[in-house]
Amino acid sequence: MDIKQRFENIVGTKYVSDGLGERYIYSFDMTENPPRKPLLIVMPSTVEEDKKIIELANETLPPLVPFVTGQNVGGLTIPQVEGAVIVDLKRMDKILEVDEEAMYMVIEPGVTFGHVKRHLDKHHPTLRYTYPLAPPYTSVLANALVQGLCDLSTTHGSMTDFINGLEAVLPTGEVVRVGTSIMGDGNWFARYPLPDLVGLFSGWQGMTGIVTKIALKLWPKKKFEGFAALFTFGEHATTHLIKKIARSGISEDLDSQSLSIIKMLLKVPYPVKHFDGEPDYGTVIGYTANSEIELNEKFRQLQELVDTAKEDDPRIVLIPWPTVVKLMGDQANEWIDFPSDAFKVLAEHDGLTWVGTYIHPKHWGTALDGGRKIVEKYGFELMAFMKPLNILHIAEFKFIFRFPKDEETIDRVRKCCEELLDFALSLGALPYKTPIWSAKKVQKLADPAFFELARKIKKLLDPNNIMNPGRLDL
Ligand SMILES: Cc1cc2nc3c(=O)[nH]c(=O)nc-3n(C[C@H](O)[C@H](O)[C@H](O)COP(=O)(O)OP(=O)(O)OC[C@H]3O[C@@H](n4cnc5c(N)ncnc54)[C@H](O)[C@@H]3O)c2cc1C
Repeated sequence: MDIKQRFENIVGTKYVSDGLGERYIYSFDMTENPPRKPLLIVMPSTVEEDKKIIELANETLPPLVPFVTGQNVGGLTIPQVEGAVIVDLKRMDKILEVDEEAMYMVIEPGVTFGHVKRHLDKHHPTLRYTYPLAPPYTSVLANALVQGLCDLSTTHGSMTDFINGLEAVLPTGEVVRVGTSIMGDGNWFARYPLPDLVGLFSGWQGMTGIVTKIALKLWPKKKFEGFAALFTFGEHATTHLIKKIARSGISEDLDSQSLSIIKMLLKVPYPVKHFDGEPDYGTVIGYTANSEIELNEKFRQLQELVDTAKEDDPRIVLIPWPTVVKLMGDQANEWIDFPSDAFKVLAEHDGLTWVGTYIHPKHWGTALDGGRKIVEKYGFELMAFMKPLNILHIAEFKFIFRFPKDEETIDRVRKCCEELLDFALSLGALPYKTPIWSAKKVQKLADPAFFELARKIKKLLDPNNIMNPGRLDL
């Protein structure tokens, strides 16, 4: 019996393919990272099937690449070695539990942001999850594992900080749970006490097993919600003001972006240019309250912070959202109603990539200022994006590129991204959703003991090196 038949025996003939079309589709993503065709694609629907797939892989040794929708924008689901089997987990798409009292949900890998939003709005309207700018059809579980950033990250940190616990099939086939669910179902309320073994799976890009369930924190949905748009000039002045707003705790969600991203949303044709005199950054500030009085008070406090900044630069403006809608039309409401399709315009060319890092807040302005100059030097649109995380324990920024995938442009994208990352690393920043090329750069500069430890853990958990080998250049 050949290997394809053995996978078919596990999941059924309908859910295994080695067709050229499928192998091509799964060989690349939007980024500039080089493609590689897998051997075949298999689509399990249960934990038992995941376990059997892993056991078969240990016997016959094809590498396994966990996959849900491949929209991570880091080349993370492109196989790094020949003969890989893509394990597409879309069929595992159940919302297993929503606990209203301890405010968490337990979901499978194929559950998307769209599913979660619809389910909560319909069945648990007093609770909410947190949403990225990513398309609504992407995986919530994968987003948490890759340490993504969503709207509530401004107050509660990276998506990994939302994880209460998980269940995984280890690379050697055992099913394990971490977090309080080790005491049984209906008990997924926390990640501690005991050693924090969520860390064996988050940030590993599918190298340490297939996560089959995850428990994620939900949050109370307040009755009143307000948004405002802030327009600012210059990287240092902008980050200075954003830091003040973040630390004030007024806003649960704060996204700052180059004006070109807003112009892109307004359908200004590619490549978007900057004009002298227009603001450099537009920041969307979201805030919530239990009463209208509280909501108005929050806007007043925001205005007060902005008024102080205006003493240095009177061009700064803060505009309440109803006025933004009057100026820019109803489409402006799509930009704040997550999960939203509004940002799909980022993917309107074949190519989309970014260099994104976590950085010490003290270097934020310098990183953005230096990064802008690098992007301009390579002749790309300036698409900088930044977010304070966890109030302001971490500052995040990324430079985004949408591009046609011709050879010359791909080469220019690669060079520009490398220079941006070199600059960010020189400021002590670390890239997230780390593609291999950028992991190589980090390894040259970082404490080698960290990567040695990561290699030891990988070897211990995955002696046959079957789970997504080669990632992070380990
Ligand atoms: C236009 C656009 C905007 C975006 N904006 C944001 C944003 O604002 N914030 C943000 O965080 N992200 C953003 N993203 C990135 C992305 O959408 C998310 O990170 C996404 O939710 C990941 O889901 P996925 O289905 O694409 O995962 P995949 O790409 O399929 O998988 C991601 C990684 O997780 C691993 N993996 C997947 N499932 C498992 C599993 N069950 N067990 C173990 N490993 C697994 C994979 O091997 C891979 O390494 C954006 C993407 C696009 C295209």
